[in-house]
Amino acid sequence: MVLSLVLIGAGFSLSKAQPMVSFALVIAGIILFPHRRSTSAVLIKAVMIAALSALFYTSYVSQNPWEKGSASITFIDVGQGDSILIELSDGKNVLIDGGLKEYGSKVVSVLKEKNIRHLDLLIASHPHADHIGGLPEVIQACQPYLIIEPVFPSELNPSTWSVQQFDRTVQNLHIPRKTVRSGDILLEGNSYRLDVISPAESLQSDDLNDYSLMTRLRVGKTVFLFTADAGYTAELEMLNRNLHCDVLQAGHHGSFGSTSTAFLEETTPDYAVISVGKDNDHNLPNSYVLSRLEDYGARIYRTDSDGSVTFETDGKTISVSFEKAQE
Ligand SMILES: [Zn+2]
Repeated sequence: MVLSLVLIGAGFSLSKAQPMVSFALVIAGIILFPHRRSTSAVLIKAVMIAALSALFYTSYVSQNPWEKGSASITFIDVGQGDSILIELSDGKNVLIDGGLKEYGSKVVSVLKEKNIRHLDLLIASHPHADHIGGLPEVIQACQPYLIIEPVFPSELNPSTWSVQQFDRTVQNLHIPRKTVRSGDILLEGNSYRLDVISPAESLQSDDLNDYSLMTRLRVGKTVFLFTADAGYTAELEMLNRNLHCDVLQAGHHGSFGSTSTAFLEETTPDYAVISVGKDNDHNLPNSYVLSRLEDYGARIYRTDSDGSVTFETDGKTISVSFEKAQE
């Protein structure tokens, strides 16, 4: 009976790898050991079945790297703005934002270098020029299947030239667009999930930045949080939601009004990335934000000094590389 349970346990441990094998093992456990038998016979059968389990498991895992999951996440250096490329190992690609208009060609060249001809999702975090300005050029070069946008009060719509250019391009190419909220799942694979953290339905703010789409990518056991320009008000809505992450994008290019202590306590990141332009007019990143991140022990990467920063995850561990040598 004990050995039956061991075999059933072995079956459960395989349940993710191969449901049919797991089922067969559980049945084998029940059929082979319904009654007391001689110890040696039981041991031989147990060893045989354990060996078969190991064989099935290793062969399945080696054929299917998605059992662990892997992905590459690049914070593209677009000066004072945001652009993040997510490459998933099932071939799907997601872009969050495209920087200012003058950086559209840079984002396109990054996509071309990687042989990316279309985007599965294009997330326009919020309609400010440093996020959507470069997107018309990106959309024309690598047509997305779907554009994802946040819900925000209509009176906050900036109706700027950047918004008009973006809308015109999307309409001309007949690309579907969808508005989403906290809790919506954007993309899901064998071992990854991209979902929306913010804006929450309860959010009330007169700042469009707070309605930025905050998204979370989970790959295996690793978690990435992309915050765009969300500030304290949006962050406070997100407390007590189990938002631990390994990599946190410091909100609003490292502005004082984002990456609050409360939000850091919620997210407890090992790494922080600040998308920020060299010698920008706003003196970003803010020195208080840098010390808050340092106090929390987060290793900081900045696109102004590090250039584009790339994180590779295998679902368990994360490695980092960047364009320029740190000064
Ligand atoms: Zn911004």
